Amino acid sequence: MERVVSVDEVRAALARLRRDGRTVGFVPTMGALHDGHLSLVRASRRHADVTVVSIFVNPTQFGPGEDFEAYPRDLDSDTALLADEGVDILLTPTVDAMYPPGADTHVDPGRIGTVLCGAARPGHFTGVATVVTKLFQIVTPDIAFFGEKDYQQLKILEKVARDLDMRVRVAGCPIVREPDGLAMSSRNRYLSPDQRSHATVLYRALATAHDAACAGETDAGVLTRGVRETIDREEGVELEYAVVVDAETLDPVSVVQRPARALVAARVGSARLIDNVAIPLPGTGPSR
Ligand code: AMP
Repeated sequence: MERVVSVDEVRAALARLRRDGRTVGFVPTMGALHDGHLSLVRASRRHADVTVVSIFVNPTQFGPGEDFEAYPRDLDSDTALLADEGVDILLTPTVDAMYPPGADTHVDPGRIGTVLCGAARPGHFTGVATVVTKLFQIVTPDIAFFGEKDYQQLKILEKVARDLDMRVRVAGCPIVREPDGLAMSSRNRYLSPDQRSHATVLYRALATAHDAACAGETDAGVLTRGVRETIDREEGVELEYAVVVDAETLDPVSVVQRPARALVAARVGSARLIDNVAIPLPGTGPSR
């Protein structure tokens, strides 16, 4: 694996690797890697000839008072994990290189970036869309892999690629969970053992909505209420939102007639956690 820091270096390394029409897969991350990230790397290794991973804690997607400074950083262990996975290039750009003085062009994903997590974190998805667009320009991947764990982010990046006529294919990968159901997240490191066990309520609550939908419930209000009530009963977990939305547009739905998704965000101690599940259509099987 080659670790590169500058845009010129990554372009030169890719020029060497991209010979004979070899395809490039790309996995952008903020590091502090876990099996969720590695599942994206493995998907890229399966679907593309060359795999590029970036680690960049992007300041422009953190709001004032958020955890940019405290965000876990563990470059040595991340580098070893990625080398073991057979990654070809690890890109670790500096903040100054990504945002030189005067770099104030933004990619605004529109309304879908202002709801749900975008309402709680104004400007977050503009920061995400901008940095991912920049990374796409640098790496020029054929296919880029993102986790369904950050479902709104995935839908926004699909839309940005479509709206801006990018030739990259944006691919979504399933959520990787701990054995007790908690979605893997770099922010789980903020949780005390007690908080860690309370946090499992998010998946348990989402599972009730999924199971109710499997049993034929199509009233989104009923599904949402079940999720909300389960989370509200849990000590130490402060619900921010629980919704059932259209799986593509993220618009609220009242009756599940098209593919839908249940999404939650909650605070547990200092961590803001998110999770989601597919809500199956009536008459279709489980899809959790
Ligand atoms: P992050 O480092 O948190 O910015 O995440 C980098 C990528 O990994 C994003 O596409 C995330 O959606 C994805 N990811 C994070 N956690 C998981 C998980 N538990 N399962 C699948 N993908 C994940």
